[in-house]
Amino acid sequence: MGKNEKLQVQRKIVSGADYIESLRDRGLNVWLFGEKVAEPVDHPMIRPSINAVARTYDLAVENPELASVISPFTGERVSRFLHVCTNVNDLVAQNKMQRRLGQLTGTCFQRCVGMGAFNSLYSVTFELDRKHGTPYHARLKRFLTEMHRHNYVVGGAMTDVKGDRSKAPHQQADPDLFVHVTRRTKDGVYLTGAKAHQTGCLNSHWMVVMPTLRMVKGDEAYTIVGAVPVDAPGITYIYGRQSCDTRSMEGGGIDAGNANYGGQEAMVILKDVFIPNELIFMDGEIEFAAMLVQRFTTYHRRSYVCKSGVGDVLIGAAAQIAEMNGVDSASHIKDKLVEMTHLNETIYGTGIAASYQGHATQSGAYINDDMLANVCKHHVTRLPYEVARLSQDLAGGLVVTMPSEKDFNHPEIGALLKKYLKGRDDFSVEERVRILRLIENMTLGRNAVGYLTESMHGAGSPQAQRIEIGRTMQLEYKKRLARVLSGIETEKDKNEVVEELTGYFARVFALPPPVTSVAGKQKAA
Ligand SMILES: Cc1cc2nc3c(=O)[nH]c(=O)nc-3n(C[C@H](O)[C@H](O)[C@H](O)COP(=O)(O)OP(=O)(O)OC[C@H]3O[C@@H](n4cnc5c(N)ncnc54)[C@H](O)[C@@H]3O)c2cc1C
Ligand code: SF4
Repeated sequence: MGKNEKLQVQRKIVSGADYIESLRDRGLNVWLFGEKVAEPVDHPMIRPSINAVARTYDLAVENPELASVISPFTGERVSRFLHVCTNVNDLVAQNKMQRRLGQLTGTCFQRCVGMGAFNSLYSVTFELDRKHGTPYHARLKRFLTEMHRHNYVVGGAMTDVKGDRSKAPHQQADPDLFVHVTRRTKDGVYLTGAKAHQTGCLNSHWMVVMPTLRMVKGDEAYTIVGAVPVDAPGITYIYGRQSCDTRSMEGGGIDAGNANYGGQEAMVILKDVFIPNELIFMDGEIEFAAMLVQRFTTYHRRSYVCKSGVGDVLIGAAAQIAEMNGVDSASHIKDKLVEMTHLNETIYGTGIAASYQGHATQSGAYINDDMLANVCKHHVTRLPYEVARLSQDLAGGLVVTMPSEKDFNHPEIGALLKKYLKGRDDFSVEERVRILRLIENMTLGRNAVGYLTESMHGAGSPQAQRIEIGRTMQLEYKKRLARVLSGIETEKDKNEVVEELTGYFARVFALPPPVTSVAGKQKAA
């Protein structure tokens, strides 16, 4: 039996332990430190990232309302990460699940890119089929049904390596710098190219390959969307290393800072990877690539409320170290914790507002507000850096000068360290060291990848959000508001300003559906 067939017969994944077992023996071609990895599941540097995904399954068992849904395709409970939103509550619940998982793992739990891919493709394939009479939407639904049947993890492979950023895909000196179709048969297509920075790719069962930017004439071969099993022949994974990552290979559980959980990114290289027709969801329709990228980023940019959950952990660590150092009652310390909380809730506030201001697409799938999603992600490119700065302020210099766990355990020098690194009497030196290592982990170490640099570039670098904000900010309408109040415009123009609510402002001023009062409900009953 082939590896892919093995995945097909695998029983439905329910718990984190089931999930970890499902990743074994897949024979993936994974490279790390110049060597092929025999079994990623057992590699100490890779395992924390697997644990983080496993936590998404365990949360669904502990709190099914928050982290799972009843599948519209199978009628069984599946992860909320596989769900296509059909109302505002679905969008909001995704954000609440993301914040909770950020709190529980203190890192990237890797499943939101696939979630954004499903949600955006659902509406885009619907509209594409309406225009071109193609069969993509029905195929996507069959694929989703299969993913739900097994409760799989699906990654979203969007970002190409991109070569010369000033050139379109078909203009690159090397045609492989963007993933593209190299060969066609009556059964499907073959793809070659590379996707960079792929979050959780090894920890997924499937990935959805998508174009990374709007396509122009000549880019037809690059306009390809399809699903690929992670263990498909022709895929090579080259694991990305993270700051301080080898600490998890040193033994001991303190110096890693967050020994259980970490994120994962790898480069995915595709060489003649086959996608059968049944798993192709866009093929050459260049005008729909931009729609897909725009909708994907709209979903994904408000998924960054994950950072507010991670921020909760860092704020907690900062408050804890202040208490351990005996400075927690100082007014400037309290004020800094208030500032950190203010910044953190700003991220959450804009993300959750984007979800509450969601609306239906033609397919019936719901999408969140694009302006607010971009504002959320733009905050994320900045505010976690300030939260991290303040946490280092409260931590003191020891956060970067502390000796290793081995020194603390040494019979001779360990006693010296325990004497001289004591803080408040009611906390042990080890407790103090553990909190400092966690702050280091989140602001300089492995999980700073997810909390800081991922915040900067994931779902698009800062300028990508500014472009979207600029595109949707309705300046002409705002200028007219100003002209009317300053007395420049006529009475007729005033009426138009009141009536003319389009785009973002149509959503801002759309009133929520009426709430039935308790008395009304009783009367109806
Ligand atoms: C930790 C992490 C996880 C990620 N996870 C995923 C994932 O799971 N799936 C996925 O598909 N992608 C993922 N990404 C990729 C992410 O979307 C990209 O990093 C982002 O789009 C920026 O692309 P880049 O890294 O190639 O940087 P670049 O595009 O090289 O950007 C560098 C700078 O150049 C500027 N720039 C780029 N192009 C132009 C241009 N044409 N004109 C002017 N300025 C330009 C940018 O604004 C930026 O300031 C991840 C990234 C990170 C860092
Ligand atoms: S960075 Fe956040 S939004 Fe992106 S995959 Fe990780 S947890 Fe999800």
